[in-house]
Amino acid sequence: MMLETDRTFHDLAESLPQLVWIVDPQGKVIFANQRYMAYTGITSFDQINSSWQTIMHPDDIAEVTRQWSRSLSTGEPYTGEFRIRRRDGEFRSFLTRTVAVRNETGSIVRWMGSATDVHDQKLAEDAIRRSEKLATAGRLAASVAHEINNPLASVTNLLYLLAHNQSLDRTAREYIQTAQQELARVSEITTQMLRFHKQSSAAAPTRIAETLDSILALHRARIQSAGILLTRDYQATQPLLCLAGDIRQAFANLIGNAIDATPPGGRLRIRLRPSRNWKTRRQLGVRVSIADTGSGIEPRNVKRLFEALFTTKGITGTGLGLWITWDLIEKHSGLISLRTSTRPGHTGTVFSVFLPFEADKRFSD
Ligand code: ADP
Ligand code: MG
Repeated sequence: MMLETDRTFHDLAESLPQLVWIVDPQGKVIFANQRYMAYTGITSFDQINSSWQTIMHPDDIAEVTRQWSRSLSTGEPYTGEFRIRRRDGEFRSFLTRTVAVRNETGSIVRWMGSATDVHDQKLAEDAIRRSEKLATAGRLAASVAHEINNPLASVTNLLYLLAHNQSLDRTAREYIQTAQQELARVSEITTQMLRFHKQSSAAAPTRIAETLDSILALHRARIQSAGILLTRDYQATQPLLCLAGDIRQAFANLIGNAIDATPPGGRLRIRLRPSRNWKTRRQLGVRVSIADTGSGIEPRNVKRLFEALFTTKGITGTGLGLWITWDLIEKHSGLISLRTSTRPGHTGTVFSVFLPFEADKRFSD
């Protein structure tokens, strides 16, 4: 009978989708199921006892140890979520519960523990939370921008009329010019904000070379007056099915930043290449890189670049450009990467964008 129960227990423990273990009242592991061993790569119960901390995420050890000691001394169940290292080194999140089993007199004879893999579920929840946050922020920003847009247009028009009033003296003209510049900045922010939220129209085949050229045309005056040497290096690529306005905005932001960063006499190079499967040579998408010989980006700033409102340009910056750009490229299942150097004599930055011709989640939201 005893044997039969043992057998049943074994079958049960091995059939569960969880990691399962048993701990004696002193806290020593006396059993772990095959799934536990296979997942962690640990080969004996002794090894679990001597090295359980090595399979736990370093950031979780302190909290787990604290809670588990508490359970051991009070006899109360332990419940917690922590990351366990898989044998290949990847950490996954598990929901863990360990409860005491008592005998007739009420003393603890063992603890039964189980851990359920909740990693994918957690990732999905994080993604949803993140996109909800973005959507909320976007909606809020768009409604503010929308409210500001009309008064902004009238002030812009009024200033334009004023600027052409011949009777004004020089100082007045200078004031107006400054006001116009400041206002242009506000307009840029609202445009970005509106664009960010606006449900874009249908995707259409777009020639990226033309998109890039039209952006450069807009910036021509600035590039010339700053004495920046511009090189365009395009190879033929297939048209890209995309939301043309979004992609234009993304590249305009990157090119604008490059011009901002480049001192007089500096160089700006825009390169367009087909991106191919190296074996079949089939075009997978396009790669655009925007390289400048500007200031480069301090290492401590690199990881903050894509945050909303992060800017090093003081009051002339908005800190929205890269934030939005990331989102627009991501929406097209693309990728942004960058290389940058602040080494004296070799400063500069290259932003590189890959946009695929096909992507499963493209425009699905
Ligand atoms: P903004 O241009 O309004 O500051 P962005 O989001 O476009 O906001 O850029 C954020 C910051 O990233 C900039 O303030 C700047 O410090 C840095 N940056 C972006 N592109 C470059 C570049 N090409 N060279 C140097 N710094 C850059
Ligand atoms: Mg910018």
